[in-house]
Parts: sequence; structure tokens; C-alpha cells
Amino acid sequence: MKKPPREEPRDDLTVTPPKTWAAGVPAVVHALEYSLEQTSPRQSAVDLLTMNQVDGIDCPGCAWADPAPGRRHRNEYCENGAKHINDEATTRRITAGFFREHSVSDLGRRSDMWLNQQGRLTEPMVKRPGSDHYEPISWRDALNLLAEELKALDTPDEAVFYTSGRVSNEAAFVLQLFARAYGTNNLPDCSNMCHESSGFALHETLGTGKGTVGLDDLHHADLIFLVGQNPGTNHPRQLSALEQAKSNGARIVAVNPLPEAGLLRFKNPQKARGLIGQGVRIADRFLHIRPGGDMALFQALNRLLLEAEDARPGKVLDHAFIDGCTSGFEEFAEHARDVSWDDVLAATGLAREEIEQVRDEVLRSERVVVCWAMGITQHKHGVPTIREIVNFLLLRGNLGRAGAGACPVRGHSNVQGNRTMGIWEQMPDSFLDALQREFGFDPPRAHGLDSVNSIKAMREGRIKFFLGVAGNFVRAAPDSAVTEEAMRSCRLTAHVSTKLNGSHTVCGQTALILPTLGRTERDRQAGGEQFVTVENSMSEVHTSRGRLKPASSLLLSEVAILCRLARRTLGDGPGNVPWEEFEADYSAIRDRIARIVPGLHDFNRRVARPGGIRLPNPVNEGVYRTATGKAMFTSNACHVPRVPEGHLLLQTLRSHDQWNTIPYTHNDRYRGIHGSRRVVMVNPADLNALALTGGDRVDLVSVWHDDAERRAEGFEVVPYPTARGSAAAYYPETQVLVPLDSVADLSNQPTSKGIVVRLERAVP
Ligand code: SF4
Repeated sequence: MKKPPREEPRDDLTVTPPKTWAAGVPAVVHALEYSLEQTSPRQSAVDLLTMNQVDGIDCPGCAWADPAPGRRHRNEYCENGAKHINDEATTRRITAGFFREHSVSDLGRRSDMWLNQQGRLTEPMVKRPGSDHYEPISWRDALNLLAEELKALDTPDEAVFYTSGRVSNEAAFVLQLFARAYGTNNLPDCSNMCHESSGFALHETLGTGKGTVGLDDLHHADLIFLVGQNPGTNHPRQLSALEQAKSNGARIVAVNPLPEAGLLRFKNPQKARGLIGQGVRIADRFLHIRPGGDMALFQALNRLLLEAEDARPGKVLDHAFIDGCTSGFEEFAEHARDVSWDDVLAATGLAREEIEQVRDEVLRSERVVVCWAMGITQHKHGVPTIREIVNFLLLRGNLGRAGAGACPVRGHSNVQGNRTMGIWEQMPDSFLDALQREFGFDPPRAHGLDSVNSIKAMREGRIKFFLGVAGNFVRAAPDSAVTEEAMRSCRLTAHVSTKLNGSHTVCGQTALILPTLGRTERDRQAGGEQFVTVENSMSEVHTSRGRLKPASSLLLSEVAILCRLARRTLGDGPGNVPWEEFEADYSAIRDRIARIVPGLHDFNRRVARPGGIRLPNPVNEGVYRTATGKAMFTSNACHVPRVPEGHLLLQTLRSHDQWNTIPYTHNDRYRGIHGSRRVVMVNPADLNALALTGGDRVDLVSVWHDDAERRAEGFEVVPYPTARGSAAAYYPETQVLVPLDSVADLSNQPTSKGIVVRLERAVP
């Protein structure tokens, strides 16, 4: 068994120039180094050789799609995927002795990096009221305790059931079924905090919450926008798709406040010339935009396209598409023609010529894809920004045809599948009606609580029970101090987890840790060995089957935990849900999903085929389930992020050595940051204006209307080519700065990419 680190690593910052290319030999070396630090060469080989292969393990790292069966590489994974999978497959173990040695208070002072490095959880643990230690508890007692607590609540709406995107389709379906049979729609998820703005805007304008493109569309696009995303770190195999697109002649426009290495050049480690050569240039144009300026950019592009049409009538816009498939064009066009260049230039920080050059790229292109991620969604105006992207695509008919479309790039591996399975506090009546028909109980119809509203409800004493299935809710949520206080006010908090994280240290009066199987492990139930299914960012549903021996004989699968909890809580009712049968054989769950979720008919047979099922997207069939029955142009007031004198607009971001909320090391190789995460990256010209210099120690203080001061202490200043007027610092350390009430209009998503801060010299 590998030994975990005893002590926290010290901050010891060194800074080197940011890299101008991603992957290559260092990616292979780092992946192997981390994997072998965690697990044996044999286990690592089993994981890596089956990862992302047909009938293998789906990488938990992100939701990027796999190439079609037959076109997959023998090593179909990236550096980060290899690290993530072997982080789970670690041979380090946490036993009861660990919890005797470390009190909850002690663990609460540890970093999430240290907690994660201690290894896999191996048996259920409970922290009882008044105690400062977790102690072992049997599964039977743990589940009884949870069930009794649920039965004792005044109303089912005093409970919330949180999920992260690591959860399989089968577990997600069972969880939402349990919550609704119990009587609540309180089903917050991590999507509330990452792509809620995408879902809202796409539903409203196109009638689907999902992206419209597949990998082949990217390969055959002739212009691809990468907006507010960092593929080199957050979905690295996207770079292989972009490389292929470029070899087919595509041009790429990258739009970001930081010139991330993965946006600039890629050396594909799957190819010999990628390992030893110069690699492929990714961005043909890089727009160094201010955070939150993307809406103004697309408004300006839309105006320029309308003007180009005026100059060459009938040659620029796709009139057949606009007339036949869209609504609201006239009103939109009138509004778009009035967009002010002063506002555009102030919001974007770009020169007008740069935007005009992009217009020319668009005019030369027949097939355009726009990819985006949290650099777009996590702003107050995230929803209108995506509406403007949709307007942009509609103008030239770049939807519903090969090589064109909208591509919101999801982070968690099954975050999209969870929604398909009903993990949403606002599922439509059509889904709830189908549940009612299938299982014979009446699901609650009132909308439940999302993540932000769950925290508010806890704070107000309206939530007493929190169950988190996977994830690290306390760290992923905004306003860390407020969230922690809210969680502590619960009567019971429980987490279904593979490894220890910060959320286990922020306890309700009673707290439970329910250890579960990981993706890499064999899942044997009464009906034999099981596999699960997941859905990637491109709506492909496929299997995932673990190969390794479970980390402990005491682990239960997520499905088993939830089915047993449902039986203990609900007894024989309501309706007729066969929980025991579901636990024994997951194909019984899939049979029911097949009758409830459109597009998954004959689920068991079809998902067993290599590559699985691609869920139909109505947009690609010319169907728009919107208020007008057509794709909707919208008119949106231009948003110019305003930052008071002496302040900066902060975006939170992940380092390259990090998986969601969990850092693996203190290094961020591509950005040249080594040995510390408490750094704030600021443009040298802004540092000059603030009379600061590299190496100064500062506190970050966020400025919000509620007058409460939110402070993240002791950050070292690093001069960095961030867009003027902006700063960047790591998540989740800076979540403390994101006010709970600072959310995107309409989607209620926290605005972690647009926080006004001032930098105060730290008191030595
Ligand atoms: S791109 Fe994403 S899914 Fe693919 S191997 Fe890397 S982390 Fe895993």
C-alpha cells in the first residue's frame, strides 16, 4: 500500500514563463508520475488500457466525447484523465484508525489536497451529535439512521438530495425517483453551478438544453470558436478533435481573458510527430477579451453581419433558414443595428479591427461551430451572452446541419446524463407524468431548490437534511463561509463518496460518510456483474465497466445505497417501485428508463452496441420546441462590466493539476506557477497602476451590495498576461469571494468569473 503524505506541502512559489503549447512529452511524464505515485503499475495499466475503450471504463475526468469505435487510439485518454482515474484507483486506504487519530476539527484545518491524498474510504462512518470524531457504523445502522431522520421531517421539502456529474445514469435515475417518491423536487446538482446558463438559454431559444454538435461536426467545421474555455486543462482530448479539424482546413478563433497554452498550440502525445515536433497551431486568431465581454463581441459580430448583408443583399444571411425556421428576426435586427461601438470596445477591450477581421473569417466560412464553457456561463449576463451566440449561429443558418452548431462543453463526465435522468429541480410535467404512469405514484409538481437556493434555505432553517451523492458540495458552492454555516445548521448531513474531501469536515449535528465503489471497480450484485451508463457532452450514451477489485469489501455501489435507503424510508409505498430488483440488476433500471426518457427506447439492447446510443437532438431534425415553435432570435441589452477605479474583475479558475475542487499538487505547469496556489495573476500594466509588483502579498477583498466584506487572505501577486482590468486566482480557494446572491440573471448560476475585487496589501 502506498503511504499518504503526513504533512501539508508548504507554499513555496516559483514562477516561470507561461507555456505556449499543451501536452507533448511532459504530459506523458506527469501522467505516469502521478499514476505510479498512487497505484501499482499493474492497476494503472488495467485502467489506462481500458479507459474510454468500448466496454471499458468511462473516464470520470470530463464529458468530452470518444471517437467512434474503430477510430479510437490504444491510449484514448489525456494526461488529466490518466491522473483522475489513478487518483481513484489509489492503493492508499483510510480506515477507522485514521478517524480516531484525526478529529473533525483537525480535518477541517486540512486542505482538500491533503484530504484527497489520504486514499479511499473503506467503511461507513458516523459523527454523532456533540462528538468531534467520526466512528464506524454498520451499513444497516447508517441507512436506518438516515431513513429515521427523513421520516421525522415535518415535510419532504426539508430535505435536499445533491448530485455531482460523476454519478452514473442508473444511480441518478434511482436518486431522483427516490426523492420524488419521498415527496420533494429538491434535487440541486453541480450543473446549477457550471452550465445552468447554457441550459436556460438553449431551452428558451432552441427548445433543447443540450449542444447540437457531434465530434464529426467539429472535424468538418471550417470555422470553430473557442469562447471562455480552456481545453488544454479542462477537456484535453478536445485538442485532438481540433487538430483533426485543422488538418481538414478549419480555422480557429479563441476568445479568452488568458492566453491559455491549450488555445495556442498542441503537441499530440498519441502521435510521434506530436511528441518530437512543433505540434499544431490551434488558434489562428486569439482575442484577448476582458472577462464578461463576450456578449458585446457577439453583438458586434451580429451587427457587422447585418451590415455586410446590407452591402451585398442576399449574399450574407441565410434567408431561407431565417424565413423558414426562426422567429423574431426583424426585432432582433433593429436592435442589433443599434449596438454601440463604444460599449463594445469598453466591454471587450478589443480593437474594432480585430472584431472586423473575425467578421471576415465568418464570411469566408460555410460551417461554423461555437464552443463555450464557464467563461461564458458564470457571469451575471451568462444567459443573454448565450442568446447572442444563438443569434450569431441563426443568422447564417449554422444550426441543424453537418459541421455547424452550438457546443457547450461540459466538465463533469455525466453531468448531462444526470439531467436526462431527471436530476433537476424543475423537470417538466411530461417527465413527471411518465414517472406517474410507470410507477403509480404522483410526483410532487412544485419546483424544488437548486444549489444556491438550497444554501439559502439551509441558512433560514428550512432544510434539515442534506444527502450529497458524489462531489464536494461545500467547496463547489459559492460564498464558502456562508455555505459552511448553512451546512452546519442541518440536523443531518451525509455524503456518498469514494474519497475524503472538505465537505466531510463541515458537518450537521449528525454526519455520515457512505463509502462507495468507484468507476474503476467491479460492481457485483445479486444479478451478477453490472455495468453503468453515462452520457457525454455530445449526447452519446454508452457503457462504463470497472475492472479492478473494490478498495474494500465494505463498499456498496451508489445504486445499492440509494435502493436500500429508499426501501427503509418508504417501506411498501408509494406506488410500485421494485427497489430490490433495481439493486440486483441494473438492466431493470434501464428498462424503466427506456419507457420514460425519449430517445432511450430499447435501452439495454442498443447501449450494448459498440459506441452506444446518440440521443436525438430535435434541432438537428428541424424541430424547435420553443414558445414560437421556431428557433428564436432575441434582443438583449448590451452588458458592459463596470469595475470601480482601483478594482479588478476577478475570475476563478482551475489549475492544470486539479480535478474539479481537488488539487493534486501546488503546480500549474502551463501557466508557469509552481509550488503555491495562493497566487493572484494580474496584468503588469494593472499592477503598475495599483502600485503593486510581482511577489507582493495581498488580500483579495470582494465588493458586493450587501456591504459584507469577503476576504481571501495571503495571496502572492504574479504578473501575468490577463486581459487589462482583470485578475485570475484559483478555485475553490477564492469561492469565499463569490457572494451567494451574485448569480446569473434567469439561471441563478453563481458568477464565479465576474467578481469585483480590490487587492489590499496583506498585513505582515
Ligand atoms: S479529455 Fe476528459 S474524458 Fe477524455 S481522457 Fe481527458 S479528462 Fe478524461
